[in-house]
Amino acid sequence: MAIATINPFNNKEVKKFDVFSESTIDEKVSSADKAYNVWRDKPVEERAKLLAKVAQLLQEKKKELAKLITLEMGKLIGESEDEIDISSAIFKYYSDNAEKFLEDKPFEVKEGKAYVRYSPIGVILGVEPWNYPFYQVARIAAPNIAVGNVIMIKHASNVPQCAQAIEDIFKEAGAEEGIYTNLFVAGDKIGKLAEDERIKGLSLTGSEKAGASLAEAAGKNLKKSVLELGGSDPFIVLDDADLDNAVAQAFDGRMKNMGQSCTAAKRMIVLESVADEFLEKLTKKMSGLKVGNPADESTEIGPLSSEDAAKQLAEQVEDTVRAGAKAVIGGKRLDREGAFMEPTILTDIKPGMRAYHEELFGPVASFYRVKDENEAIKLANDSTFGLGGAVFSKDIARAEKVALQIETGMVFINEPTNSSPELPFGGTKRSGYGRELSSLGIEEFVNKKLIRISGK
Ligand code: NAP
Repeated sequence: MAIATINPFNNKEVKKFDVFSESTIDEKVSSADKAYNVWRDKPVEERAKLLAKVAQLLQEKKKELAKLITLEMGKLIGESEDEIDISSAIFKYYSDNAEKFLEDKPFEVKEGKAYVRYSPIGVILGVEPWNYPFYQVARIAAPNIAVGNVIMIKHASNVPQCAQAIEDIFKEAGAEEGIYTNLFVAGDKIGKLAEDERIKGLSLTGSEKAGASLAEAAGKNLKKSVLELGGSDPFIVLDDADLDNAVAQAFDGRMKNMGQSCTAAKRMIVLESVADEFLEKLTKKMSGLKVGNPADESTEIGPLSSEDAAKQLAEQVEDTVRAGAKAVIGGKRLDREGAFMEPTILTDIKPGMRAYHEELFGPVASFYRVKDENEAIKLANDSTFGLGGAVFSKDIARAEKVALQIETGMVFINEPTNSSPELPFGGTKRSGYGRELSSLGIEEFVNKKLIRISGK
C-alpha cells in the first residue's frame, strides 16, 4: 500500500511519501536504542514534563491538526477536534499520574522486605490504524514514554501527515532524537523489525489479520505483544430502559467516526416489547442526515476513510441482504464521488450471514429482536469478538447482572462503550489481549522487577 494522503471526500491524491530504505530504518532503530539508554535513567518528573508539553502543543495546534485528520481519513471536523482533545488529555493524564503509578509495590513477607519496581524494557514498536490517528498513538506513546521506554510508530499508510505531525510535536516539545520516531514502512516490514534485538516489545491496533501476523512475529522472537483488534459490540436494550435515551445513545454509539470505531455499537439487541418503538425511532434518527464535505461543520454524513473501505462495507451489506436480511434504510453506496456509504439499518439477520459474524466498519446498524434478557446475553456472546458492549435499563442491578455475563473486555451501563484516560481499554477473545490507558496501560511493557531483602 502506497504511503499517501488521499482525500476520501473526492478520492484525489494530495501528497505521497517515500518509504524508508533499509539503512534509514536501521539508523532510526539505532537512534531509538541510544535514546533509550539515556531516557530510562531520567527521573520520572522529567519524563512527565515532556508529556505535559506534548499535551499543551496538541491543544495549541488543535485546529490545524484536526484539519489534517479530516483531510486524510474523512472524520467530521468537530469530531477531529474532539480527538485532539482526548489525545491531549491522555498525555496530560500520564504526565500527572506516572509518578504515582510507578511507585514501588511492596509485598508482605514473613521477615525482611520485598517490593516490585516497574522498570522500562527498551524500544517499543507500535503499529497503529487510521481511524483515530492521534488518539491511538497517544494510548501507546504516553504511558511508555512515562515509564522510560521509547516509541517507534508504524502508522497506517493513509495518514502519513498525521504520523509526521506527531513526531514533529515531540521534537518541538524538546524530545531528544529517538524518544519518539515515526517510521514510514510497509506492514510487511514488521516481521523483520520484530527480529531486531534492539526492539523489545510490539503492539498493534487494527484488524485480526494484521494482529495475528504481528503476534506470530513477536512469538517467534519471544517478545511481549499487546493486541487491540476489532469488535462487534452488542448494545442491549432491556424492556425498562429509558427508550429515548437508549435511541440517542445508539445513534451516537453507531454513527460516531462514521461508524469506524472498534467499540461502535454494532449490534442492537432489543427486548421484544420495546423493539418496534426502538427501531422506528432509530430509523427516524438515521434518516435524512446532511451529506457533505467533512471539513464543513454542518455536515452530518461524511465519507468513510477510503474507497476500499466503502467498497468492502457495501459488499458485506449487499451479501447479507442477498442472503435474506432486510435493509430498513440504506444498504448501498451513496451515488456521488468519494468514499460515501448510506446510513443503513439491517434486520432479520441470521447465523451464516456476513453481518452476523463479521465486523461492519461503517454507518451500518445490525438490529436484533430477542424475547428476554437470557436470549440477549446468548446472542451478545455468540461472536468471535469480545471488545466492548452496553446495557440499557433503569434497574442498575439488573443491568449489572446482564453486564457481568457479557464476554467482552468492557461493558458500559446506560451509555455506549467509551474511552477516557483513566479507564482501562481492551478486549478478550479475537478482539485481542492486553490493556491500554489507566494505570493498567503503563504496566504492559515493563519489567516488574522483584527486589527481596533478607531479614535474616
Ligand atoms: P489494519 O489493516 O489491520 O491496519 C492497522 C495497521 O496495521 C496499519 O498500520 C497497517 O499498515 C498495519 N498492517 C496491515 N497489515 C499488516 C501486517 N500484515 N503486519 C503488520 N502490520 C500490518 O486495520 P484497519 O482495517 O486499517 O483498521 C481497522 C481495524 O482496527 C478494525 O478491525 C477495528 O476494529 C480495529 N481497531 C481496534 C481498536 C482497539 O482498540 N481494539 C481500535 C481501533 C481500531 P498499512 O496501513 O500500511 O496497511
